[in-house]
Amino acid sequence: MSVRTRFAPSPTGYMHIGGMRTALFNWLWARHNGGQFILRIDDTDRERNVEAALQPILDAFRWMNLPWDEGPEIGGPHAPYYQSQRNDRYREVVRQLVDSGKAYRDYETAEQTKADRDAAEKEKRPYVSSRRSLGLSDETRAEYEATQVPYVVRLLVPRERKVSINDHVRGFVEWDCSLIPDPVIQRSDGSPLYNFATVVDDVDFEITHVIRAEEHLTNTAVQHLIYEAIGAKPPEFAHIPFVAAPGTTKKLSKREIGKYRNNPQFKRMFEIADTVLPKLGMKSDDSMNPVMVAFYEQVGFLPEAVFNALARLGWSLDDKTEYMSREFVIENFTLERVVKGAAGLDCDKLMSYQEHWMAKLSVEEKVTRCLPFLERAGYVASPADSVATELATRLVVALGERIKLFSDILSYEEYFVADDALAYDEKAFEKRIRKADGAVELLKGYGEMLATQDDFSAATLEQATHSFVEFRGLGLGDIVHAVRVATTGKPAGPGLYDCLALLGRDKCLKRIERALARA
Ligand code: GLU
Repeated sequence: MSVRTRFAPSPTGYMHIGGMRTALFNWLWARHNGGQFILRIDDTDRERNVEAALQPILDAFRWMNLPWDEGPEIGGPHAPYYQSQRNDRYREVVRQLVDSGKAYRDYETAEQTKADRDAAEKEKRPYVSSRRSLGLSDETRAEYEATQVPYVVRLLVPRERKVSINDHVRGFVEWDCSLIPDPVIQRSDGSPLYNFATVVDDVDFEITHVIRAEEHLTNTAVQHLIYEAIGAKPPEFAHIPFVAAPGTTKKLSKREIGKYRNNPQFKRMFEIADTVLPKLGMKSDDSMNPVMVAFYEQVGFLPEAVFNALARLGWSLDDKTEYMSREFVIENFTLERVVKGAAGLDCDKLMSYQEHWMAKLSVEEKVTRCLPFLERAGYVASPADSVATELATRLVVALGERIKLFSDILSYEEYFVADDALAYDEKAFEKRIRKADGAVELLKGYGEMLATQDDFSAATLEQATHSFVEFRGLGLGDIVHAVRVATTGKPAGPGLYDCLALLGRDKCLKRIERALARA
């Protein structure tokens, strides 16, 4: 039988990075076995606009390059894949269970149930359902039905036994059914409960492996009983540990976002957020932050790096292999090597994966992916023309490994701004030009020298600069800082001759002139 896994998000409007790791393990297990990965939408909460709230989730899957084989947009043999469209099916199964005596209509009021629970608690004995409704006479039952007395449907738990699973991560887990109250499977308004709907779906969709967050382990007892009541073979289960906040064992949570700014490891991501997002007209807030997959896309990570990082969160091949391509992970992924303990998101590792996968890209690929950032920041026209593309290409070459994220290109806006709009680091301007002895004169001379340079390559400029200082009996240090500040506005950056060559003669001359005028 073909392996079929699923990920079942509720449409929340964003994709949590921890949720993506759960989805990834499902996807990997399906791919490893040549099976199918299904996306099911748990949209029983009807208040939201499902389509709008689903898009960011689907976008995250697209960006991560994790195509789903059945689900939204593409359908499949078991469509619809939206729980909200499967109510008839849930009701049908509830009816069958009631007819076969495996479930019952419970007319007990919520107050009665609560009173029973309170009494059990007071007497320090486990609460189990009273099952009073099972003792109703046929007459009363008929009367209740005729007068439409509200009821919920409960599964009749076989109290005399135990239920167990052999979880791929947790091992053998057993529950004593005598301690399990009869779970509601259908509310009085006819809607299904999660535990019930998920089992009906997993049966109908022929899911073979349920790989999900460990917080669902406790639900599995009831779900297992539902499989049995339906007469379906339960799938294999793998309850994987949650993704923890960096350096902690506490679940990574969107609600804690305020605290994460002070987390020593997470800090770096917020620094990236605070420098990059504003340039793109966004800010780091509830709807865009490092808990979300979209953040990593927005600030210019490679999906390969995030894939590598998530694959290594709670799973490892051995104790040394870190850099893994998708093909490699697909080939080697097994549920048996998933760890039991929480795995903290590791931002340092993420950066090292990023550097590793970035280094594999050709200059062209890097440029293609840097350009949209320049366009979105308004540094170049959109779409970028050939002049901008050429400049970006030369910049990417000159920067080499300094471009770690695609958005890093945004730190070099000085190459793209108009000469008369260049901003200066005023402290550096003061120190290197206004206050440095003879700097103004030298800069003037240097400009005159540049004006005579026909060959404006970095190598030639280097030679010319050496001759320039030697002729005057000076050192390089006497001129290079002033030239850098005058032409780029900044005290540091890529090699000076690369900078000058990148800018070209015209721009260098104009900028030196402008600097002299304000010195
Ligand atoms: N919608 C559920 C959740 O997000 C799915 C749980 C499951 O995988 O069974 O928690």
